[in-house]
Amino acid sequence: MEQSKAGMNTRCTHSGHLEDLQFKGAVSPLFPSTSYAYDGVDTKRYPRYFNTPNQEALARKVADLEHSEAGLIFGSGMAAVSTSLLAFLGSGDHLVLPEQSYGGTQNLVREEFGKYGIEATFVTGTEASDFEAAIRPNTKVLYLETPSNPLLYLTDLEAVSGLARSRGLVTMIDNTFASPINQNPADFGIDIIIHSATKYMGGHSDICAGAVAASAAHIDRIFQLAKNLGGSLSDYTVWLLERSMKTMGLRVKAQSQNALELSRHLRTHTGISRVYYPGLEDHPGHAIAKAQMRGFGGMLSFELAPDRDADRFVKALKWVKPSMSLAGVESTLTLPSQTSHGLLSPEEREKAGIADELIRFSCGIEDIQDLIADLDQALAAAAKVSAGAALIK
Ligand SMILES: *Cc1c(COP(=O)(O)O)cnc(C)c1O
Repeated sequence: MEQSKAGMNTRCTHSGHLEDLQFKGAVSPLFPSTSYAYDGVDTKRYPRYFNTPNQEALARKVADLEHSEAGLIFGSGMAAVSTSLLAFLGSGDHLVLPEQSYGGTQNLVREEFGKYGIEATFVTGTEASDFEAAIRPNTKVLYLETPSNPLLYLTDLEAVSGLARSRGLVTMIDNTFASPINQNPADFGIDIIIHSATKYMGGHSDICAGAVAASAAHIDRIFQLAKNLGGSLSDYTVWLLERSMKTMGLRVKAQSQNALELSRHLRTHTGISRVYYPGLEDHPGHAIAKAQMRGFGGMLSFELAPDRDADRFVKALKWVKPSMSLAGVESTLTLPSQTSHGLLSPEEREKAGIADELIRFSCGIEDIQDLIADLDQALAAAAKVSAGAALIK
């Protein structure tokens, strides 16, 4: 069957597969060589040239899953983000990106880009018109993150890509939260699609990697810088990531289903004051999410009601563990006010919409009734006992 018509699970399983010509084994062989012959061969192979057999095979899988011509595999999500941005930005250029973007991306732009004479505007709003208002004569790149971290804001991909095309700008998206299973930005005209493969692509909390998918011409431009910066991924990890990605469709579907059911449950719970999930009808981005996503993703956020204690809630959980990262098969949570946004002042946090009792939840693949039971018992344990009630006891 034609590859372009295959479904996502078929692509996850088969795209980029390397034939074991010697022994006819079922899985892609691992070629860990860092040294390849240069004589009598067409391709000069070397891991930092991003062209070992396993690197190229996995890049094909990522490209196919993102409906793109070509791909590159990196040593981390931030290697993919930094190399992609710097490939299209130089001294005197300007970048537009969302205020609510991944912390590492913000640090890269705020701490490093000034040294290279690259200017940036962080936009607070999520509409294409907010991006448009930030465009300057020297703007080169519009950078998106949708759904965003941690409040799951949505941005209309087609509106931004149309805007960028009319102004001759390059569009990039950090597609980590959606994963290629739930969202293919190339279908909506976005040029360059970036992933922290540490998250849903790896999915088992044991791989750090990054990936980019785009047209062959855009990938070549990123590659020209990538080979000089040197952020390639070891073939051992490439091989493990290829294996992980075979189950990505199944995992992400289960995680998205769990997130939808959990968000519906939590919305009716008296211990919760607010739930942020694009799959809920009253989420401000729900209509956009329905138009550009196949599923609403495995990430949700919620605020505990004022009568619940966040620390007690977290400590009482049995299955769900506090964790810095996300997207693994096990459910985890973080308090952004104590982690990603911990260095902001209380006023800055409030401006960013990050309540102290906000919990960012990464759904795993556990059975939903177990997750609901765990959260229910932890919410009960987190109820603050008023001074009066304590006395009566
Ligand atoms: C984790 C993450 C990154 C960075 O990826 P690393 O693999 O940690 O370098 C970038 N964007 C998003 C949305 C992430 O969650």
